[in-house]
Amino acid sequence: MSRFFSKKFEYLTPYAPGEQPRDLDYVKLNTNESPFPPSPLAQSFAQAAARQLELYPDPECKALHKKLASALNVSADMILCTNGSDEILNFAFAAFCDIDTPAVFADITYGFYPVFARYNGVPYREIPLTDGFSIDIEDYFDAQGAVFIANPNAPTGKVLSVSDIEKIIKNNSNDVVVIDEAYVDFGAESCVPLTKKYDNLLVTQTFSKSRSMAGARLGFGVGSPELIADLNTLKYSTNPYNINRMTAAAGLGALEDAAYTEENRKTIIINRDHLTKELQKLGFDVLPSSANFVFAKHESAGGAYVYEELKKRGVLIRHFDKPRIKDYNRITVGTLEQCEILLAKLKEILL
Ligand code: PMP
Repeated sequence: MSRFFSKKFEYLTPYAPGEQPRDLDYVKLNTNESPFPPSPLAQSFAQAAARQLELYPDPECKALHKKLASALNVSADMILCTNGSDEILNFAFAAFCDIDTPAVFADITYGFYPVFARYNGVPYREIPLTDGFSIDIEDYFDAQGAVFIANPNAPTGKVLSVSDIEKIIKNNSNDVVVIDEAYVDFGAESCVPLTKKYDNLLVTQTFSKSRSMAGARLGFGVGSPELIADLNTLKYSTNPYNINRMTAAAGLGALEDAAYTEENRKTIIINRDHLTKELQKLGFDVLPSSANFVFAKHESAGGAYVYEELKKRGVLIRHFDKPRIKDYNRITVGTLEQCEILLAKLKEILL
């Protein structure tokens, strides 16, 4: 830290992204990316857009907002595209929390939430998941703060039903409830339709997972026009051109090629069920997952040990050094071939 670094960031511990190694050709199952390339249409649209990189992109992202609006059956003024869904989540912490309105989220959830809270100088309260890593919805009634829930949750992969989430929204009518649907396409029902009914609901989604575009950085939020206007105030106060031309074009291509996304989504679900069964045969306790990853604990080998031994053998998974989940690892569901390599290496380590 330099002697010039602002005191306001004294206690900021940055988010530690999953490893993105460049040295070895790892089987990369650690950051929940799609194992499939982006749609050919997304690629060709991005290529065409590259020809106009001398010009700033459309700050209003009109074409993308219009296409998303029709896909989601909401109006375009209920959508805001951002540089990954991380950006809209950060905006939400800034916009809807303050010293009197803490952020409220689970003790085991997306590790960026406490970082966003600290970055924005807002207090936060963590609510422990139950022993089985579930959310008890009543813990979130009258939360006295802005509620952030990942559904499916990460890294557990567990889901809440829309009717349970609706109860949380109703029981926090004076605060915003943010539902982070980064993994929704792999097995949860979306809360987007509820955004037309509740003015305190913001739903965030991403193109990083089911649409194979983590490298393009494209996410978005859906909420009442008033909530979206607040978030736009923050966008235009920081980076009006937050979506670059190639990303916007790739996004349009991906939306047009919905059949490609659907096919890959189905494959991931089939592979997840196969991986779950095979891991169970090897002595893993695997939480029922509705996401593109599984969260698993071995009956005898520790989480850090399994992670380290797999890394030595060229397979990367994610281990979190947090007391409650240190026995677990989060494993991204890859192609069938990647799953087979992982399972073969696990056999080497465990049998
Ligand atoms: N929410 C959750 C729960 C996530 O796991 C991630 C990905 N790490 C994100 C949001 C952000 O994803 P992105 O910025 O790529 O849209």
